[in-house]
Amino acid sequence: MSTKYIFVTGGVTSSLGKGIISASLAKLIQSRNYSVTIQKLDPYINIDPGTLNPYEHGECYVTDDGSETDLDLGHYERFLNMPTSQANNITTGRIYLNVIEKERRGDYLGETVQVIPHITDEIKYRIKILGSDNKYDFIITEIGGTVGDIESLPYIEAVRQMKWELGKNCLVIHLTLIPYLKAAGELKTKPTQHSVKALLELGVQPDILVCRSEKHLNDSLRDKLALFCNVDRESVIESIDSESIYNVPILMKEEKLDEVVLRKMNMDTSNPPQLQLWEEFLQKLKNPQKEVTIGLIGKYVELKDSYKSITEAFIHGGVANDCKVDLKMIHSESINPNNVDEKLSKLHGILVAPGFGPRGIEGKIDAIKYARENKIPFFGICLGMQCAVIEFARNVLGYKNAHSTEFDPETAYPVIDIMEEQKKTAGLGGTMRLGAYPCEIKTDTKAYKIYGSDLIYERHRHRYEFNNKYLNEFEKKDMIPCGINPVENLVEIIEITEHPWFIGVQFHPEYKSTVAKPHPLFVSFIKSAINHKENQLCNKTL
Ligand code: GLN
Repeated sequence: MSTKYIFVTGGVTSSLGKGIISASLAKLIQSRNYSVTIQKLDPYINIDPGTLNPYEHGECYVTDDGSETDLDLGHYERFLNMPTSQANNITTGRIYLNVIEKERRGDYLGETVQVIPHITDEIKYRIKILGSDNKYDFIITEIGGTVGDIESLPYIEAVRQMKWELGKNCLVIHLTLIPYLKAAGELKTKPTQHSVKALLELGVQPDILVCRSEKHLNDSLRDKLALFCNVDRESVIESIDSESIYNVPILMKEEKLDEVVLRKMNMDTSNPPQLQLWEEFLQKLKNPQKEVTIGLIGKYVELKDSYKSITEAFIHGGVANDCKVDLKMIHSESINPNNVDEKLSKLHGILVAPGFGPRGIEGKIDAIKYARENKIPFFGICLGMQCAVIEFARNVLGYKNAHSTEFDPETAYPVIDIMEEQKKTAGLGGTMRLGAYPCEIKTDTKAYKIYGSDLIYERHRHRYEFNNKYLNEFEKKDMIPCGINPVENLVEIIEITEHPWFIGVQFHPEYKSTVAKPHPLFVSFIKSAINHKENQLCNKTL
């Protein structure tokens, strides 16, 4: 069977959830036993989102192969339970970089290098590369931005050409907004008509409209959209606001999005999607038996997207425990020794987030001291682990002003230090220790019990690490380096034995948590938060 290409474009506004619609359609196709992958094309000039401020673009997601990518790839992996790679996220910057490198090498044999055909050919090449070894029946390509943006013009042109070349093997879904005007009491189709017109001006007729809306679309509105946007009546799909992104595949199934797609591509539709496990997950998500409050301490807390994978991993781990996790975002700059008790005493667990730069570090350290001394479950991720090491050095080992050389290059006790290989690197983009590395876990530890394995692979994104010079000191006082990278002898996991749950990891477990496979560290951390809450209640009643 030849690979089918599906494009998802966006109309009217951004933030309509193209990533979730793409992931939901992919889930439905996958659950009919087809192989599918999703790709995101981002029209900005950065080579990748690795250098982008989380305020600007949300979390930077890291794949096994060490690519720094758009956070939508996280949704793709969480929905499909399949790893993505660099090929799944391409930016305009990368496209131009490749074309300019080819030009410098002389590959164009003296031609004038132009947006059409050279940039559009490179875009098409990057799309088709995923389908090249027949690994996938379907490639879903999400085009970032909104139709009409100057930046996305070459992408839409590439889509037009692919539609022309591939005929039935290519299809365009346009995700658009149907706003509700309160004063008129009506849903309005005009913005969608205009947005489809903008696509038509570029030579692309969308095959399917997915209409994001806060109210249901009635029959006459669907008829109107079909008529004015030139699509079949069955191709007008409603996408109503939903309380959970995990509900969207079910909504799309009810609207028959997958069936319409398959029919339009002349594919068999007789095998309905098998979504039993997904539905079980949703049932549990909607009917939690317990509830815990966990504090997420970071410095980008105003924007939930900055910690997307962590917040999603808490949803997966919560469902595994039949528990709703109420995540309280706490700004690390707001914490100090005088208010730490008031701010944290009601929490059942404390997570200190990854991050860069000195802002808010002391608040994170105060929070960790509080969690350690009061035996509140504590989970430190990357910078969170590094802060736990600094706190322990200062307050247990007595190393006054111990620090990471990231924040105090002159510290007398550099318990966290720049990695050897990082000293040589110049420039910021793609130069950290990135992607999946092995980690060996000592068998008599909590981490081993949690993973049920002595060898794991987790993804990294950092420049600094535990300074092995201090290893014995920490171990003697019960902070155990229990996970080690066997090749470079780097500390990847620390834990405190005499604490109900105090674990820090140098890697990012949140990137690997999916609906089908919640991450064991999150599952176990939530479990210990539940225990902590029960003990608290017990102590109160005694
Ligand atoms: N800034 C720290 C480092 O580079 C931690 C990075 C992170 O939390 N991802 O090592």
